[in-house]
Amino acid sequence: MSTQNSYATLILHWYDQHQRILPWRAKTGTIPNPYHVLLSEIMLQQTQVATVIPYFNNFIKNFPTLNDMAHAPLDKIMAMWTGLGYYSRARNLHRCVQEIVKQGGAVPKTQEALKALPGIGEYTSAAILSIGYNQPYVPIDGNVERITARLFAVQEPLPSSKPALAMLAKTLNNHEEALVRPGDFAQGLFDIGATICKPKNPLCLICPLSDVCKAHQEKIADLLPKKQKKAEKPTKFGVSLFIQNSQGQLLFRKRPEKGVLAGTMELPSTIWSEQFPSLEQAIIETDCKGEYKKLGDIKHVFTHFTLKIRLYALVGHPDFITQDQKNIWLDLKELHHYPCSTLMRKMIAYSVKT
Ligand code: SF4
Repeated sequence: MSTQNSYATLILHWYDQHQRILPWRAKTGTIPNPYHVLLSEIMLQQTQVATVIPYFNNFIKNFPTLNDMAHAPLDKIMAMWTGLGYYSRARNLHRCVQEIVKQGGAVPKTQEALKALPGIGEYTSAAILSIGYNQPYVPIDGNVERITARLFAVQEPLPSSKPALAMLAKTLNNHEEALVRPGDFAQGLFDIGATICKPKNPLCLICPLSDVCKAHQEKIADLLPKKQKKAEKPTKFGVSLFIQNSQGQLLFRKRPEKGVLAGTMELPSTIWSEQFPSLEQAIIETDCKGEYKKLGDIKHVFTHFTLKIRLYALVGHPDFITQDQKNIWLDLKELHHYPCSTLMRKMIAYSVKT
């Protein structure tokens, strides 16, 4: 069997029998909805399928069309995104659909036009074109890199092997059947990566590609792809203040519109720095005077750094702080109407429990 020709046949044949049923996915033979593909691909960036499914369903329920989302307030989108993480994706999504509506309302059909939209890069544009418009692109994400490294037994470690893996991955659809069904081919690769060619313990014995896979033949599948040792993540430190008024409402502020957790609600907090700020420093920085007691420290891991937050609670109630542009008093019950990060929910849960 010529391997060059067999990848596509094997992947498509397997996909016809074993494809995952996903809410954004069109059944084989039906026309995909490019808006569903765009929304799901943006949600899936850095996020697991199982996590995305309820968010995708909720977004489609609230915004059945791309036009509906473009005309929704950003705050509503941010609130619905709560818990999905990487909040800049929600802002970019909103700007992206607004831009598409300005251009006439149809998701663009070229990679150049897609990549000009906020939040859409090489991978997402290729996924939209192959899955949404059946164009012969191979979207190359971590799954596809892993399968490719194993199929060709690429020994060079990631990330320096990325360009070579991308070139090899682009040859996988070099076959008539894949060129006729680019969307199914791409999704077949995704499904094999997610369910069979897993990062640890790949299930080579039930893999449709085992006959053409060099890593399997050389018995090195679970050693690939190799990875260069990552530099240790830096740690940042901050102080946050838990301040409640006599009605039990919590004092919040909105984070800046740029940077980590942009635009989400937070307890009054210091900036995150190289070491723990003192309580005195935190009081000055947040402009929240009073007597405080220490609650404890919590840790949160972001992609590029680890954050340690020291929590203090105000003793008594500062009813003199009134609601204004900076200070927002919220009942915990109404917090779900506001964009609130997983980190902030963790801090509130810790403070309430302590
Ligand atoms: S045979 Fe094993 S290593 Fe090769 S693609 Fe299949 S699961 Fe991955």
